Amino acid sequence: MRFEELEIIDPILKALRDKNYEEPTPIQEKAIPIVLKRKDVLGCAQTGTGKTAAFSIPIIQQIHNREGQKSGKPKLRSLIVTPTRELAIQIDESIKDYSKYTNLKHTVIFGGVKQGKQVRKIREGIHILVATPGRLLDLISQGIFNLDDIKIFVLDEADRMLDMGFINDIRKLLKMLPEKRQSLFFSAT
Ligand code: AMP
Repeated sequence: MRFEELEIIDPILKALRDKNYEEPTPIQEKAIPIVLKRKDVLGCAQTGTGKTAAFSIPIIQQIHNREGQKSGKPKLRSLIVTPTRELAIQIDESIKDYSKYTNLKHTVIFGGVKQGKQVRKIREGIHILVATPGRLLDLISQGIFNLDDIKIFVLDEADRMLDMGFINDIRKLLKMLPEKRQSLFFSAT
């Protein structure tokens, strides 16, 4: 199977060639078409299986197709929540690589650092936000941004999130998301 057969658009194919990805991994082959059809996904996948690209590529493609040509301040269309700062940074780096030939804006937020730079980036306008739960809820409660325009919500490492005691944060978050949305949940177990 080739990425072309998954109907991935040229700007992303070009970025994947730059990364020397030759073919999709099994989870990418399965998940990408489903996400592109705007269906929900409950995926079981360990780190190292290509899970990040499995959700990032179709998210970038959907947002690019719908809003890539729009002018004005981008709306926050996709939220990716993951338990640790390291994972959050990794996901944001991958999104940067896969979206480099599009106009999409993205950023990452996590706790343990001052919020000023993160807040500035969000206020400039972004399409995709990668976040750890604590900082995410903190900035929302300060009224810095809201989740009203989200179309695609990703919960990455859902099992680890529960192990780390994030269940109440996740419950709060789910209440803030629009009811009509696409949800992608990934768990290692
Ligand atoms: P992940 O499971 O998302 O943490 O990805 C693990 C590693 O596999 C990362 O370094 C990716 O850059 C790499 N990767 C993801 N998809 C592919 C692919 N289709 N071909 C080659 N490498 C890949």
